[in-house]
Amino acid sequence: YAKQGKSEMFVFYNSTLENRVFPYARLESDLRKAIQHKNFTLVYQPRVNSTGKLIGAEALIRWNHPERGFISPDLFIPFAEEAGIIYQIDCFVQEEVFKQVRHWEVSGYQVVPISINYSANTIKNPNLVPSLEKLISRYSINPRLIEVELTETSLLTFTEATLDTLSKMKKLGLSISLDDFGKGYSSLSYLHKFKDIISILKIDKSFIQNIVENTDLVNSIIYLAKQLNMAVVAEGIETEEQYKCIQTTLCDALQGYYFSKPLKVSEFTKWLGRR
Ligand code: C2E
Ligand code: MG
Ligand code: MG
Ligand code: MG
Repeated sequence: YAKQGKSEMFVFYNSTLENRVFPYARLESDLRKAIQHKNFTLVYQPRVNSTGKLIGAEALIRWNHPERGFISPDLFIPFAEEAGIIYQIDCFVQEEVFKQVRHWEVSGYQVVPISINYSANTIKNPNLVPSLEKLISRYSINPRLIEVELTETSLLTFTEATLDTLSKMKKLGLSISLDDFGKGYSSLSYLHKFKDIISILKIDKSFIQNIVENTDLVNSIIYLAKQLNMAVVAEGIETEEQYKCIQTTLCDALQGYYFSKPLKVSEFTKWLGRR
């Protein structure tokens, strides 16, 4: 898609000509309707250790537009951020994850930690921590089963107040991870500043896709993370060659199409063991 300047239209390049343009206003009202009717689903992408055993998963939102079909979160999440409606979306996602974890638990599955993506704006919302407290008690979930993913770029916008929110989340027992590390422009001093709060660093897929040429670079990131007591996740492993290469490193967890694409609940449940 592309933002077409002043005309306030989205252009979908992979659609037929007459279907290409879509007004912003329409997208916004459709998104609001989708929020109201909870018209989203979640998919879960397995995260494995270096031997391929399931050790976690990432929850990712999907929106199936009634006329447009699938719209990528890479399009509508930034749009929802700008429209000021991302908090409702992230809240929908967290509620779904808590419900699902509870459901797996009562059905006798051995649940692995599930991570949820949060936009910077969501973290800044003063209602977030109270809403998490409510979800933890309502669904009686061990908070260690929930991970919070923040992007590196969102760190740049954080204030003392957001740092305080993150420490509260950590005190609740949630783990905080830094997503897409290396993709943005945050400096090492940022990483240092957040070192007591962030316990997991996810290396951006752009590094992993070139890992064979970039092994030294990836090893340096892993070394740095370990120095700061962080666990390391590699995102975007697609080939056997990349997998072989990452196995020579001290990376703790791996994610990517090579192991599995994000799966609908029924498919992902097959990955879970029984208690
Ligand atoms: P992300 O959090 O970095 O998620 C990883 C993205 O990489 C996902 O795209 C996933 O499907 C994709 N991916 C996984 N393995 C591979 C691989 O081997 N190769 C390649 N090329 N891609 C792979 P997806 O689901 O389209 O999500 C895109 C982004 O949208 C996410 O990036 C995240 O920033 C955002 N997002 C998704 N769900 C949510 C949500 O519930 N809330 C918020 N705030 N953001 C979300
Ligand atoms: Mg993520
Ligand atoms: Mg990522
Ligand atoms: Mg991303």
